[in-house]
Amino acid sequence: MQQTLVILKPSCVERCLIGEVITRIQNRGIIITGLKMMQLDEKILREHYSHLVDKPFFPGLAASMMASPVVCMVLKGVDVIEVFRKMTGVTNGRKAEPGTLRGDFCMSGQANIIHASDSPENAEIEIARFFKPEEVFDYTPAYIKYLYGDDELKA
Ligand code: UDP
Ligand code: MG
Repeated sequence: MQQTLVILKPSCVERCLIGEVITRIQNRGIIITGLKMMQLDEKILREHYSHLVDKPFFPGLAASMMASPVVCMVLKGVDVIEVFRKMTGVTNGRKAEPGTLRGDFCMSGQANIIHASDSPENAEIEIARFFKPEEVFDYTPAYIKYLYGDDELKA
């Protein structure tokens, strides 16, 4: 099964939305295999947002990501990278569809409450960036047989 890296940003933590987001993740049937609080710094943010370091908004983005601790998670599921990006919604919260996390819980293109890996390649890199191998628990919950058909688990 795939795994993806999720960060609940300061805009989620400070607004007391951690529980709301985790409830949505668990209600969907996505398995949490890693979970911890971290204080991010400029070094890790320059790596994580390397595609954005030259943008004029990068200093403000970095400051917003260091404004409080964040909650980092590793999520597991069949096709979870794509499934969770859809649940997240488009980058600008004002344009995100209702029913998505950003579309239901934020109004900003920067303070958009959540980060989610966008491809298998980036998920692998990002999980290794934020988690030590021993911090990810690749267990299979007993209820797995009610989440998927047998054929889907073999794929
Ligand atoms: N961002 C921003 N202004 C922009 C584009 C992006 O502040 O014009 C921030 C926003 O917090 C976003 C993050 O930079 O979530 C990463 O941007 P990306 O394009 O990777 O969007 P995402 O994958 O988070 O939807
Ligand atoms: Mg991105």
